Amino acid sequence: MTILGVRVHALTWEAFEAQAADFVRSGQAHQVVTINPEFIMAAQHDPAFARVLAAADLALADGWGLLWAARRFGKPLPTRITGSDGVPRLAALAAREGWRVFLLGAGPGIAEQAANVLCARHPALQIVGCFGGSPRPDEEEAIVARITAARPHVLFVAYGAPNQDLWIARTQPRLQIPLAMGVGGSLDFIAGVRRRAPAWLQRLHLEWLFRLAQEPRRWRRQLALPRFVWAVLRA
Ligand code: UDP
Repeated sequence: MTILGVRVHALTWEAFEAQAADFVRSGQAHQVVTINPEFIMAAQHDPAFARVLAAADLALADGWGLLWAARRFGKPLPTRITGSDGVPRLAALAAREGWRVFLLGAGPGIAEQAANVLCARHPALQIVGCFGGSPRPDEEEAIVARITAARPHVLFVAYGAPNQDLWIARTQPRLQIPLAMGVGGSLDFIAGVRRRAPAWLQRLHLEWLFRLAQEPRRWRRQLALPRFVWAVLRA
């Protein structure tokens, strides 16, 4: 379905995992994006970002705001598929299926820390590379070479939106990764350097409030939320 011009796929967790397995089996390049209200509002005035979201092979409904909007438009979505929950689930699946995983982005040492946590949980997991780096164009070639040499099936990119998603779209023609996904702050959560909102706050749909309390600087970004609600109500 489409919310304010941005396409979102209606998926259960099982369907998401089945799609991921299809992508890896195909061996062809695929891009996964995790849509939340901030993405949708950014896409309204960023045509390059909007194009990348529209071209993605899978657009996950990350955020309660999307479920609310979908219900309002008469096309309810089965569940929320967040990047923060999706990364650990895909890591578990990768361990079972023998997929090679590469972690790109987040602050210095975070990808390595996240890799340690995931490998402790899943001893069979093959993490074939961890690299912070940055989405800056002058680093792109070296990072592409590094990832190409590691030949991952799955690439998680934690550069924050829209940079991570633009980065994947730009490099996929060269990388050809079966499953490349922008994951925002997910590696920070796994590494334990940032706390995820407790489940009860998530159920109350107040994850945004928890994140705001932890990172007050987010307020400006979070203005997207009331703007999103307003835009949906008017639509
Ligand atoms: N980040 C990075 N390089 C950059 C910009 C961001 O590695 O040039 C990382 C940052 O450390 C964090 C992630 O990208 O791990 C994005 O975090 P954010 O809170 O923006 O993500 P969200 O979960 O809100 O999408």
